[in-house]
Amino acid sequence: MVRAGQLAAFPTETVYGLGCDAFNTYALARVFEVKKRPRFDPLIVHIASLDAMERLVDFSRLSAGMEYRLSVLSHALWPGPLTLILPKLRTVPDLATAGLETVAVRFPAHDGALKLIAESTGAIAAPSANPFGYLSPTRAEHVREQLGDAVDVILDGGPADIGIESTVLDISSVAPRILRPGGTPRNVIESLTGPLTAEAPDGKISSPGQLKSHYAPSKELYLHTAAEMCRLEFCPDAAYLFFNQASFKTFAENNGLPSEPSDGGGRFFILSPSGSLTEAASSLFDTLHTIDALPVSLIHAEHPPKEGLGDAINDRLSRAAARLENIRMDC
Ligand code: AMP
Ligand code: MG
Repeated sequence: MVRAGQLAAFPTETVYGLGCDAFNTYALARVFEVKKRPRFDPLIVHIASLDAMERLVDFSRLSAGMEYRLSVLSHALWPGPLTLILPKLRTVPDLATAGLETVAVRFPAHDGALKLIAESTGAIAAPSANPFGYLSPTRAEHVREQLGDAVDVILDGGPADIGIESTVLDISSVAPRILRPGGTPRNVIESLTGPLTAEAPDGKISSPGQLKSHYAPSKELYLHTAAEMCRLEFCPDAAYLFFNQASFKTFAENNGLPSEPSDGGGRFFILSPSGSLTEAASSLFDTLHTIDALPVSLIHAEHPPKEGLGDAINDRLSRAAARLENIRMDC
């Protein structure tokens, strides 16, 4: 079906993707339509072997330094949740790259995804399989609920392992920098490349994951530090998303509530009882999907620690907290 230009939703280790042949412009246009995604938002091209980069990347535009970083990062971290921005060949359709001179390339660590890519066209362009701006799907059911019949086929690979999108790293210029924090923590990349440049120097958007509001549930979401979260007064019209068991316990004690989250009428959620950032990342979107379907009008969420995968979780929660009206489509 992908070879014939149809759209397939498929599992990866990060989130579910909505994929098509990266070289079929008709299929690419349909991906944008189905997601209601603005055309300025480029897609990630997924590959299943390092050789596949030959069809995508203009190696003649890579300096020795860039080539070295590409080699070190791709050998150490691929397959895995890392997307690399590289100079593109002219033959890569402008639709896939939003007319940019660069292409985003990712080699996913998921057997089903790799099989699909290798046995179809070798290069599958895919954004996350959700309507633009909304929560990313971590299960096939999320895709079915959000995109349904608009997709030609949905491959069900069970819940996503990592559950948060890939880290997008721009290595197409002299100073590499992270455009979107994600499943590969900054310190892991820096241990291979040396220190990375700070995020967007002029605050300009160079990657739509940087839009102030993105990855958002339909309810209002308020973010708090752990200390603030514990001091909140319980409100029956809200759902509460705690980082760990300790925060929930203090909140419950302060409000005279039972100390088991399950006794709270389905209003209390803990991303990782033991406080593991890996577990928290993998349950983030899944939990937000569950909360979004509850009859409450707001969500209180706690910031996890700002280290390792905590960067990506905090990034998603901050964007989920920014109201949709604040999106500037012209930026
Ligand atoms: P998603 O829609 O969640 O798959 O996200 C794809 C991410 O990759 C978006 O944040 C895109 O902006 C980013 N991306 C894809 N291609 C490029 C590119 N050429 N330059 C910068 N960011 C890119
Ligand atoms: Mg997305």
